[in-house]
Amino acid sequence: MKTSSARIAGLGTTIFAEMSAEAVRTGSINLGQGFPDTDGPSAVVERAVDALRGGRNQYAPGSGVPELRRAIAAHQLRFYGLSVDPDTEVAVTTGATEAVAAALLGLIDEGDEVIVLEPYYDSYVAMLQMAGAVRRPVTLRAPDFRLPVEELRAAVSPRTTAVLLNSPHNPTGSVLTHEELEAIAEIAIEHDLVVISDEVYEHLTFDGVAHIPIATLPGMAERTLTISSGGKTFSFTGWKIGWATGPAELINALLGSKQFLTYTSGSPLQPAIAHALGSDDDFFASLRAQLQAQRDLLCDGLARIGLEVFVPAGTYFATTDIRPLGFEDGVDFCRMLPERVGVVAIPHQVFYDHVEVGRPLVRWAFCKRPEVLMEALDRLATLPPDL
Ligand code: PMP
Ligand code: GLN
Repeated sequence: MKTSSARIAGLGTTIFAEMSAEAVRTGSINLGQGFPDTDGPSAVVERAVDALRGGRNQYAPGSGVPELRRAIAAHQLRFYGLSVDPDTEVAVTTGATEAVAAALLGLIDEGDEVIVLEPYYDSYVAMLQMAGAVRRPVTLRAPDFRLPVEELRAAVSPRTTAVLLNSPHNPTGSVLTHEELEAIAEIAIEHDLVVISDEVYEHLTFDGVAHIPIATLPGMAERTLTISSGGKTFSFTGWKIGWATGPAELINALLGSKQFLTYTSGSPLQPAIAHALGSDDDFFASLRAQLQAQRDLLCDGLARIGLEVFVPAGTYFATTDIRPLGFEDGVDFCRMLPERVGVVAIPHQVFYDHVEVGRPLVRWAFCKRPEVLMEALDRLATLPPDL
């Protein structure tokens, strides 16, 4: 009996599932997988309840319920001045994960090369492999994880079809600057590349740093699929309502595969996310302020313990170098941590082709209540230095 395909060979179990299971098994504080430990707005939950009780329980249209598509278009206009047609330039997906998957399956042929920022989100690698693509990683390096523009330029070949971007960037927490985006845009236009831009952390930026969608740069709206999701912005990571916006032909390619992956995405949560997208400015500002305070709490604490901390400008995550504490290997460190001190973190190493670059780096999630972060820091302070 054949029990698996070559398409998934070597992909193993996602690190997030592995480390969350480890947290449960050991009763550890989970600073691994990025999910908040508080619910999103109750008014949004009430909208979902209304939809469930109000008969919104049959298949949604393939591209999503109209009010959510309209709300996504209104959001792009309100925050970025981007004008997208809710009927032809928006697709609702089962999380950003499905949007990335459907985009790659709908756009990429066997042997096409796709440039991806390294460290990369793990589902990108899996989906590139399943799509038969060749990945060309461009490495963001500590301490500031800036884009090496010349390396990006050198990574382009005649077989390059697309650039898969992520900003604000998981796991480094860096946010692409206008200059970096201009350089990417110039390369994409010169080589006629599609840009798939994962912006799920679009509202989670700190210290006044602004997230800039690459689609807002001249010449880019017509070649960019912008992807986001309600999970991070509204603290409902389990709802899995995501979306893509972009030119109709790219959205059609995405929907061409999505229709046979899930057909459509769950209906009753879509009106609730439509409502959430219309939240007032205070909602977005207080989300940012609260997360920034949690970031500072965690980063200050990790630095006090002796780790080298790279303070992030966005996302849920802070990266540290563990070598000042005498450790070398993030995977060994993260395997030891739950048993020894009762905290779970994520090793960067699994997000690299160039594993040596990521070996001493470890990612910590700060989307947790302050008292949970403080308890984790207390536990980490007991780390035996001689392990
Ligand atoms: N992209 C990135 C960069 C992420 O960190 C995540 C994690 N949630 C996702 C996509 C997946 O988003 P969703 O849960 O909406 O599928
Ligand atoms: N995006 C979150 C993280 O990076 C959750 C990932 C997941 O569960 N697939 O931790």
